[in-house]
Amino acid sequence: AQSVCAPLPVLGRDVTVPLVTGGEVTYAALDYAASAPALQRVWDDVAAYAPYYGSVHRGAGYLSQLSTDLFENARRTVAEFLDCRADDQVIFTRSTTDSLNLLARAIPADCQVFVFETEHHASLLPWQDARVTYLNAPRTPQQAVETLERALADRTVSIEGGYGPALVCVTGASNVTGELWPVRELAAAAHAHGARIVLDAAQLAPHHPVSIQDLDVDWVAFSGHKLYAPFGSGVLAGRADWLVAAEPYLAGGGASRKVTRREDGGVAVQWHETAARHEAGSPNVIGAYSIASACKALTEAGFDTLVAREQHLITQVREGLAEVPEVRILSLFGDDAPRVGVISFVVDGWNSSHFAAALSAEYGIGVRDGLFCAHPLVRTLLGSDPQIQGECGAPEAAPGEKSLNAIRVSFGAGTPDEHVERFVNAVR
Ligand code: PMP
Repeated sequence: AQSVCAPLPVLGRDVTVPLVTGGEVTYAALDYAASAPALQRVWDDVAAYAPYYGSVHRGAGYLSQLSTDLFENARRTVAEFLDCRADDQVIFTRSTTDSLNLLARAIPADCQVFVFETEHHASLLPWQDARVTYLNAPRTPQQAVETLERALADRTVSIEGGYGPALVCVTGASNVTGELWPVRELAAAAHAHGARIVLDAAQLAPHHPVSIQDLDVDWVAFSGHKLYAPFGSGVLAGRADWLVAAEPYLAGGGASRKVTRREDGGVAVQWHETAARHEAGSPNVIGAYSIASACKALTEAGFDTLVAREQHLITQVREGLAEVPEVRILSLFGDDAPRVGVISFVVDGWNSSHFAAALSAEYGIGVRDGLFCAHPLVRTLLGSDPQIQGECGAPEAAPGEKSLNAIRVSFGAGTPDEHVERFVNAVR
């Protein structure tokens, strides 16, 4: 069966790679969850603008004005893409990791953080300086909500008799299982218990529309390079109050409104209260511009169409893998859970790294093997599965430790049917 529409044109469609078996083949990029190929449209937009770029917020010249306008327009485009509230801030960062670390620095000193152990390390680790409660992996979306509600209700009451500030950090779509998390329900639970919530949309935003208002989350973070823009830019968008109350993420020009010498010999700084507060240094105008271009391209293509096409590819892969008895797909919420085009699996009797290497060398297919920067989740999924017999192969496994590793195939708006067909045939 053919997909419902053609894939969106992306870079690298015609790249050929050598095969160990002789000859060459066009590269099948099936590692979108790590970095998606940039849309041709984004690349064209950047190429058209490239001769004109100049300093942002600094120069009086025409090209500086042009770049400043493009940078600020990009902010507005992202705000529209995320359906932000009128007073939300959109901060350009380097990546999702950068965005979540920025927020971690901006939370109030007494903030309690709640995060599931299943998160990507970018969502799991930035909160180490706060009081963090790590929540055990739920086995259904409903259990996720109940686990969070219980944890929030168990919070210590402050001396004033109320709860202190709290923040929940949750992924929208897992970078391991591709499963969608019940974000709206988790946000409602957080707010009902006086907590705020940040959505890690690194894997969700490339596949589904993300509305801050509809989901009712306080912040959203995502990366350009997973959203069909090139590397180097990301976004943190959401409520301004904590961000404005916090020390700047980086100290420097652009973040400071006024700097004077003090009588005691030091310097006094007034920081901006806009997004610029956390964007010190010369901004990545091409990065911001390319994210905005990708947001427009996806919106114009229409998420309804993109989702329908991707679901078709997911079905192809899952049905294909189901025909191979040695393949075990990793899942937290079960076969029927709604998911994006990210599928991890192990193959009984195979070392996952060798398997992924063979897909590359013999078929020109690029997947990923490993623990996918979500070690606790993959360990939970593999370690708790009695049918997985020892070796899927992790080189770092200590003697006596169960050696774990998985293979991940991931795809999206630029994936032709042929790539997933080749993948399924290769696994067979
Ligand atoms: N969160 C999730 C769910 C991810 O999949 C990733 C990237 N694999 C990140 C955060 C981190 O994104 P980046 O590497 O762009 O900072």
